[in-house]
Amino acid sequence: MPELSKRRPTHTCIAMATLREQIATNVLTVTKFRELLRDMRENRPNDDLELVRKAYEFSQKNHSGQQRASGEPYLVHPLEVALVLAEMKMDAVAVAAGLLHDSVEDTSVTIVDIRKEFGEQVAHIVEGVTKISQIDFSTREEQQAENLRKMMLAMVDDIRVVLIKLADRLHNMRTLEHLPPDRQQKIAQETLDIYGPIAHRLGMGKIRGELEDLGFRYLDPIAYEQVRDAVAARRKKGEQFLASVEHVLRDKLKEAGITATVESRIKRLYSIHKKLLKQRISVDQVYDLYAMRVITRSVQDCYGVLGIVHNVWRPVPGRIKDFIAMPRPNLYQSLHTSVITDDGTSFEIQIRTEEMHRMAEEGIAAHWKYKDGPVSAQDEQRLAWLRQVVEWQRDVSDPNEFLSTLKIDLFPEEVYTFTPKGKVVVLPRDSTPIDFAYTIHTEVGHACVGAKVNGRMVPLRHKLHSGDIVEIITQTGHKPSRDWLGVVRSSRARNKIKHWLNIHQRERAIEIGRKLVDKEARKYRISVKDIKDEQFQRIASDYGLGGPDDLMAGIGYGKYSARQVLGKLAPATEEPTAPAEEESAIGSVVRRVFGGDHSNAIRVKGHGDLLVYRARCCNPIRGEAVVGYVTRGKGVAVHSVNCPNVLNLMYEPERRIDVEWGKEEGAPSAFPIKLTVFCDDRFGMLKQITAVISDTKTNIRNIGARTENGQANVDIVIEIEDLKHLENIIQGVRKIPGVHDVQRLQRV
Ligand code: MN
Repeated sequence: MPELSKRRPTHTCIAMATLREQIATNVLTVTKFRELLRDMRENRPNDDLELVRKAYEFSQKNHSGQQRASGEPYLVHPLEVALVLAEMKMDAVAVAAGLLHDSVEDTSVTIVDIRKEFGEQVAHIVEGVTKISQIDFSTREEQQAENLRKMMLAMVDDIRVVLIKLADRLHNMRTLEHLPPDRQQKIAQETLDIYGPIAHRLGMGKIRGELEDLGFRYLDPIAYEQVRDAVAARRKKGEQFLASVEHVLRDKLKEAGITATVESRIKRLYSIHKKLLKQRISVDQVYDLYAMRVITRSVQDCYGVLGIVHNVWRPVPGRIKDFIAMPRPNLYQSLHTSVITDDGTSFEIQIRTEEMHRMAEEGIAAHWKYKDGPVSAQDEQRLAWLRQVVEWQRDVSDPNEFLSTLKIDLFPEEVYTFTPKGKVVVLPRDSTPIDFAYTIHTEVGHACVGAKVNGRMVPLRHKLHSGDIVEIITQTGHKPSRDWLGVVRSSRARNKIKHWLNIHQRERAIEIGRKLVDKEARKYRISVKDIKDEQFQRIASDYGLGGPDDLMAGIGYGKYSARQVLGKLAPATEEPTAPAEEESAIGSVVRRVFGGDHSNAIRVKGHGDLLVYRARCCNPIRGEAVVGYVTRGKGVAVHSVNCPNVLNLMYEPERRIDVEWGKEEGAPSAFPIKLTVFCDDRFGMLKQITAVISDTKTNIRNIGARTENGQANVDIVIEIEDLKHLENIIQGVRKIPGVHDVQRLQRV
């Protein structure tokens, strides 16, 4: 033991005592390590145990001298975690990561060291575990707990990280007695709020049950003891009862020739507790306090057993549940029924096949078994659930690749962030600090000038990630910017910004309007002050507007000219020149009617005679979703709803106008569209592309190609009838061998 003598060289007695301790430690940990290797060899004979051995030695070296609160050497903890993982039949990478899971947090080791020693996969997992360990997930609010669970799952991109955290938490809960009471409470609360439900979500009934009972014991010791004592008082009688009904059922199964395992249990304490609280009943009224489980060989036998059970005992109406035909969201399958014996005792029976049983106990971990063999149709069906939970790639040739491609994407549309005080803020993916600020308060949003994410200053367009702690920096008097509309992702922020811009823009427009009228009036040597408010009111009414402010705003926006308005100040006896409805904001544009272009292809709802043209920035074609925008004096520009300009234009919602594609009767309009084809530069390519296009009876207006390093970009301008036509062509061209991509260019 050279290391030992190096550490304690001074005193022989101490050295002897430490030596004895060291030997005891070694015996303990070495025994556990052997157990680990044995489990792994049994469950996963093809795995690289050298990786596990190396991780064990690394962990031993780095945790040496550290102790758990129990006084045990620290190394026992990672070993126990690894043992839980091995029991889940996890692979060598996960078990090695389990052995190393605390080394970055609790020793001087860094992720870089781990990556160097154990490779990218192990390092990535250890990093994920460390990241999660640094977040405080304890809470007392139900809603907050739900968000925290989602956050944890959103932060993880490898399911093994979650399974290691569950194994870690299980061992910590098993040894919780050694911690001071306040820590016990906090950890127990977190276990019931976060880890139990996550285990449930992943279908891991066994771990969930143990976590919950342990959490319950520490969080509410009085209730725990009451339930435990109540169950203990009934245990003996209960066990006798269960033994007798088991006996009856076994005989009946034998008669029917059905092979099945029958086992029975008394419901878990935490489940009983929850039921008592929810239904306000006593332990004796819990109808499924006693439960029997029948594990059969086939689904058919499950239904057979159900028939036999209902023959022997009276079923409780409404208690029969067929989770085989209708599995639960976590893929739990079983038949459930509650029955009453002649003496009035009720109990629950769960009937399932062996495979369903393993799924119920091990959940997602049960899937590991399938990674070596081909996926059968039956597995396929089972994995439909897993596919919802995780992104799944089947065509992975190397079985070891399987796990690294098993990625969680449970809540792909959301990010979960924290305020500095630890409140969770849920935002759409790609949200920015501006979104965050508006979620806190509208005024915080308006006055937001910067942000710190995890203590570092970031630009306002910085994209937030799950787990980020966001601090908003505000400045009194700061105003929102129109550019923000192009950056924010949440509808709340967007609406608040638009609202602010509308109000403030209108104020400015009114001001400008008044100035323009004043300037124009002076030409006629009239002072605006001499014009009575009633006169403006009358003109406003003529335009179909509410009042003088609307009129001034209209002038400020450029919808009406000041001269036009002043012209209306002529003798009051004169009648308005046009019906009021036509004289709306859009009405002034209607006056000019233009033909040409493709205006016949688009109709403005309710305004047949408007000048309409397709916006050049996006060139929308028939069939595309479009929106109209009333320009200043050029008519209605029609944009694709996906056009990047639309977002910016729509800050003046009163200029937005509904448009639709006209009926297809009449001459079909042809829309010129430019496509770029990215392809290999090979002989005959151009011919093939043009052949595909002319096969669809499409007119090619122009074609050109650029080549470089064996690659070619072919630009083609074609005449398209509608979106479907375009999609057909793009699909056709994409199928040509050697074509990598086809893109539509917005401008022609
Ligand atoms: Mn740990």
